[in-house]
Amino acid sequence: MTILRVGPVEIARVEELRIPNTISYFTSDETLIERNRSWLAPHFLNEDNRFDLVFQSFVFEVEGKVVLVDPCTGNGKPHPVPQFDMLDVPWLERLDAAGYRREDIDIVMCTHLHHDHCGWNTMLRDGRWVPTFPNARYVMSRTEIERWDPRRPGHHPVSYNVDVFERSVLPVIEAGLVEVHDGSLHLGECLEVLPAPGHTLGHCWLQVMADDACALFSGDTFHHPLQLVDPTMQFGGGDDLALATASRQRLIELAALRDALIIPAHLPWPHGIKVRLEHGHPVFTAGSGT
Ligand SMILES: [Zn+2]
Repeated sequence: MTILRVGPVEIARVEELRIPNTISYFTSDETLIERNRSWLAPHFLNEDNRFDLVFQSFVFEVEGKVVLVDPCTGNGKPHPVPQFDMLDVPWLERLDAAGYRREDIDIVMCTHLHHDHCGWNTMLRDGRWVPTFPNARYVMSRTEIERWDPRRPGHHPVSYNVDVFERSVLPVIEAGLVEVHDGSLHLGECLEVLPAPGHTLGHCWLQVMADDACALFSGDTFHHPLQLVDPTMQFGGGDDLALATASRQRLIELAALRDALIIPAHLPWPHGIKVRLEHGHPVFTAGSGT
């Protein structure tokens, strides 16, 4: 079990699955790729210009609370993409191996409500989707809940998220376990939810600050680090591409200001990204905590 340390906070992760990807999905700009290869390799780009998109959750304890960030896709849930369809992954056993039972989780933070960030909110018991973490408060953005509630007028469905609300969100709302916020929320002295819309309308980050060290769980603000070098670079679709670009720019500024380790949802562990400004220009490195 690899632990990522950010100040006094020890962050473990629970992997669900990984899907090989290639940088050509993001850009065909060879010059840009070569100019950045030295800091991207080997974690974020191999010699064949490939890398793994990793689907994983992060879990840590701070201020006496156990926090779980982005609970993956979950088992037994139908999905149009074969890699996510009806998973049977020992994710709960891996959570156990990381030192946590599902009853131990105090806070579940969903950066957004795509299938791969809220799936383990629920599990199937006697034919019903019930909360996986019975003692947790599930922290979600109001904008995000409204975005994905298919009962709302004008709802805009996307194929990869059909029925996610019914299976992974509604049961925890109905169980009274959801703490709704409007984009910003202090969860304690060290923990703060920050708005970062674009990828989805209510997408958020989780900032952890302890002993002057800072980690920023950035969810799906970017899927490959080159999107920080060129924030206009997109990953497939999204709710609002202009807002997604603006959020990437803001992430760079905030991470530089706080000397934060950026921990994105889907990049290989245990390497986050650090950024510093040199003459006003961002310089990136693969970081691994402090
Ligand atoms: Zn995702």
